[in-house]
Amino acid sequence: MADFMTLNNDTLRHIQKQLTLKYEEFKRKNLKLNMSRGKPCPEQLDLSAGLLEGLNGNYWAEDGTDCRNYGGLEGLPEARRLFAELLEVQPEEIIVHGNSSLALMHDLVARALFFGVDGQHAPWGQQPVKFLCPSPGYDRHFAICQFFNIEMITVPLREDGPDMDLVEELVATDETIKGIWCVPKHSNPTGITYSDQVVTRLARMKTKAPDFRIFWDNAYAWHDFTADPVPLKNILTACKEANHPDRVYIFSSTSKITYAGAGLAMVASSVQNINRLKKQMAIQTIGPNKLNQLAHVRFFKNAQNVRLHMQKHAAIIRPKFDLVLNLLQTELGDKKIATWSRPQGGYFISFDTMPGCAKKVVQMAADAGVELTKAGATFPYGIDPTDQNIRIAPTYPPLAELKTAMELFIVCVQLVSIEKILR
Ligand code: PLP
Repeated sequence: MADFMTLNNDTLRHIQKQLTLKYEEFKRKNLKLNMSRGKPCPEQLDLSAGLLEGLNGNYWAEDGTDCRNYGGLEGLPEARRLFAELLEVQPEEIIVHGNSSLALMHDLVARALFFGVDGQHAPWGQQPVKFLCPSPGYDRHFAICQFFNIEMITVPLREDGPDMDLVEELVATDETIKGIWCVPKHSNPTGITYSDQVVTRLARMKTKAPDFRIFWDNAYAWHDFTADPVPLKNILTACKEANHPDRVYIFSSTSKITYAGAGLAMVASSVQNINRLKKQMAIQTIGPNKLNQLAHVRFFKNAQNVRLHMQKHAAIIRPKFDLVLNLLQTELGDKKIATWSRPQGGYFISFDTMPGCAKKVVQMAADAGVELTKAGATFPYGIDPTDQNIRIAPTYPPLAELKTAMELFIVCVQLVSIEKILR
């Protein structure tokens, strides 16, 4: 079907009528589908079958640590080694701790506000603090800022990363800008990966705040759909080379590798930052769940097995992404009322409606029983300035449900667009 913009009003009204009938039909089905969050589906969780049974009465780590007991704040040596290799850092540059990278980010921001980040400069919280928020971005990063009263400055996220001209200009002039959120690989939600040039510029840029930090949330570091994924330049190395060795905190977790909420989380940074963090974390806890670390290391054995495991994830979720992308292309490809991302990995498809339509689309889908991520969630303060962006999370629903949900979504997009064109 043709570009909606070129159709006359009568034709549009005719299409509107047909689509309204379809929409009513969907409503009568009493659907109850949820596509609001990027969760692994049960088949993905089944890939880690046996992980929890792997200890089999043997609770001793390679250095003889009894993992049933207290201690080992920085994580088991074998766990640090495994994830250091995967994140391309040294074992002494990583802490494997807890089950949630988001919790590590939250706590790090809290400590920075209370104590500063380096023992030399004042606690961030002694003056107003701002963070740069490349957007569309991850709503929970923005929630952390809002929670701690950190002012968020939206920076456009492009195909190769944040708009670096703007980032450089802002950080060079404003001392209260203390940080930037980055999801550098298969970003949430647009799926882009930062180019080498962007990574280098982030590492090198001059910041007015001497205690500026990059929060490098590499949540989708190994979540590729293809065998030859887009490489991501090593930011810790780039920061060292740029004489800003302490600038970056790298986060990741196995939430979408093994078990969401019951995996391992990690933070990597310079040895100086890591040592400071260890001292601070020692006040919070006597040690992490080392049994889970041991179980993970025994399950995977080495980095290559983690990569192979990720290929199995890809085999499960790639067909879901293909289904969504094929439906979007077939049904909306020619109509010029929307654009969307075609990710090479990660958990999301980012969809842009015509300006001013996203909220209505999400509401219409909800009224017919399909829950999507709240429109606006991908921007600071939940406000999408042009009301266009919708995050599609295809991983959780089974294929048949996903198909129904997307068919309904596509009907809603067309109805809301026609209404806008006719206005
Ligand atoms: N970071 C990003 C970019 C995410 O998309 C998610 C989950 O969706 C998380 C962090 C949460 O990570 P964790 O489960 O390790 O707290």
